[in-house]
Amino acid sequence: MTLTEMREILKARDLQLTKSLGQNFLHDGNQLRRIAAAAELTATDKVLEIGPGLGPLTELLLESGASVLAIEKDGRLSTFLRERHAGQPRLTLIHDDALAYLQRGTSASPPPNEVNDWSGWKLVANLPYSVASPILVELALHPHGPERMVVTLQLEVAQRIAAECDAEDYGLLTLLIGLHYEHSGLFRIPPGCFFPAPDVASGCITLKRRTRPLLDQNETDLFVRVVKRAFSQRRKMMLKLLKAEWPEDRLHAAFQQLGISPQERAEKVSLEIFTKFCRLLGT
Ligand code: SAM
Repeated sequence: MTLTEMREILKARDLQLTKSLGQNFLHDGNQLRRIAAAAELTATDKVLEIGPGLGPLTELLLESGASVLAIEKDGRLSTFLRERHAGQPRLTLIHDDALAYLQRGTSASPPPNEVNDWSGWKLVANLPYSVASPILVELALHPHGPERMVVTLQLEVAQRIAAECDAEDYGLLTLLIGLHYEHSGLFRIPPGCFFPAPDVASGCITLKRRTRPLLDQNETDLFVRVVKRAFSQRRKMMLKLLKAEWPEDRLHAAFQQLGISPQERAEKVSLEIFTKFCRLLGT
């Protein structure tokens, strides 16, 4: 879908874009193809797309022969896509808030037709930036998360996901995503590739689910509690922060066993050490 075509569709339907929904549409064919290529799609794939917009990425996903489940919050856009792809059996469109949809899927009693096992799926999406992190964390910590996620985000957020321990942007997001996913292939997408151009640069990152989990599923909740508490005040010593939730003697024992200084701040502690720490704390 070219920029000219996008403008024509918006004009013909008198569609005013909504900034709060992050409606910056990607019209650069090269970048769209790079995103689709990173997904390594085959005709047997099931793809979840969040925020299809006018569908430039959706079209490429469908071209691969994959089946696509697309969730779009804006009713005007989901109506447009429904009409444009009428008769395409491999596209299922859902008009909903994607975060609410995903959260319902993990609730105790999901409605019967909701997908709640994403393990055979790939997420490929140019995410709405205001809800990109919660959506990614929801899927990354899901007990049956997608095997691969290829997502376009605000560049700064993609860099936080890919950050090394002790780097300035290393933190909670790095760890919540990194627990079950390894990242690769981050590339920058300049603002001019979108219509309208956003104020910030964007980046596309590939996340592959670890074949061997670092922690068992029943230890994941503890991991989330620990890292949230440890990063609740970045400049404070991690031990002091964790004392609010766990007995001091157990914390000291675990710190000692792992060779972590009692003065250490969370940003100096790697994912590997955090997982070992949770194992010790959980036993
Ligand atoms: N995929 C399209 C593209 O690449 O041109 C559009 C991407 S645009 C950055 C984000 C899209 O997400 C918009 O179409 C917007 O309406 C939709 N959106 C915003 N918030 C959403 C939410 N909570 N759930 C589902 N879709 C949402």
